[in-house]
Amino acid sequence: MFDLTDKIALVTGGNGGIGLGMARGIGQAGATVIIVGRNAEKSAAALRELQSLGIRAEALACDVAQEREVQRLFADVQARHGRLDILVNNAGSTIRKPPQDFSLDDWNRVMDVNLTSAFLCARAAFPLMKAAGSGKIINIGSILSTFGAPYAPAYCASKGGIVQLTKSLALAWAGDGIQVNAVLPGWIDTELTVGARNQVSGLNERVLARTPAGRWGTPQDLAGIAVFLSSGASAFVTGAAIPVDGGYSAA
Ligand code: NDP
Repeated sequence: MFDLTDKIALVTGGNGGIGLGMARGIGQAGATVIIVGRNAEKSAAALRELQSLGIRAEALACDVAQEREVQRLFADVQARHGRLDILVNNAGSTIRKPPQDFSLDDWNRVMDVNLTSAFLCARAAFPLMKAAGSGKIINIGSILSTFGAPYAPAYCASKGGIVQLTKSLALAWAGDGIQVNAVLPGWIDTELTVGARNQVSGLNERVLARTPAGRWGTPQDLAGIAVFLSSGASAFVTGAAIPVDGGYSAA
């Protein structure tokens, strides 16, 4: 039920953090994993790690916020594999400032990486998945898809948008056999959060107190949901937004 042998998966931001955790899970379930990022050194290190686990993996460079680069990326995937079974839209970043200090450029940078990239990659994956009559798209939202954060206006807006984009794509493409779901991680210990954890006084304690599981998540905590949503086990799940947050959203 969870076997992904012979599947081709592409994970944006798969060269680090949560994306690498999900790439490990999907790869260990049998898929060939294409990890996508901009930093060549990080991608090479992630590739070595995946291959050392016996996972068939490749690394491709792409800034997924750029339409032309995304078109080139998916043309490359089609040329190499002729198919794409699983797409994980995970690449993301944030700018932390009060809303009144946000420039339009700040706003656009966060929206482009977190939300527009998911649209661009899903649109580029569609013809490949439609031709196969099946496909799995996993969009990474956040607890900030539903909760607010005062210094992250574009991040919150982009992650809220991920949930609505997910529902719209799920409805549009259900008849083509393509399932589209969102995963909403809680506080996960990665490069994205390490700065805030070290710099924002009391953040570590607040996260621990606010998270019923009593700990930060790890990238490995996202591997299981990635395998589930990539596999036949989730055959009747589409348009869902699933929290993986140690109980944060239940409290
Ligand atoms: P990291 O910063 O650790 O990893 C983000 C990855 O995205 C990097 O590997 C980076 O690679 C890649 N990336 C960033 N911008 C681009 C781009 N324009 N094009 C291609 N790749 C890009 O972050 P996390 O692992 O923590 O976050 C992953 C996702 O999970 C994000 O969408 C984030 O918003 C979400 N999330 C994270 C939470 C957390 O607590 N950590 C909580 C909730 C959601 P490179 O530098 O090589 O481009």
